[in-house]
Amino acid sequence: MPKQEALPTYGIPSTEDLVVRLCAYCEGTGEVDVGTFIEEYQPCPVCDESGIMRVPSDYIKCRKCDGTGQEDAGEFIQWFMPCEKCHGTGWSPPPPVYR
Ligand SMILES: [Zn+2]
Ligand SMILES: [Zn+2]
Repeated sequence: MPKQEALPTYGIPSTEDLVVRLCAYCEGTGEVDVGTFIEEYQPCPVCDESGIMRVPSDYIKCRKCDGTGQEDAGEFIQWFMPCEKCHGTGWSPPPPVYR
């Protein structure tokens, strides 16, 4: 199944320990509503329409967007920008562990 290997990882270093998560930005639907006055759907730019992504298993819910993958784009724009911290995935690296 070569398709599995093609799932986007968004610059996340490829490790053995990737797990499949639902895309937070589109909530796994693979498309997002970008319409301002009427509903207008476009392929999700974060997961490339797949609805899922692979992230390292120790990643935690992104604190900046609270795991939604979305950031408010401003009061005149009805849709949301992908969160700049987690790139819309909703998952970010765990805080460093101090020993
Ligand atoms: Zn998506
Ligand atoms: Zn985020």
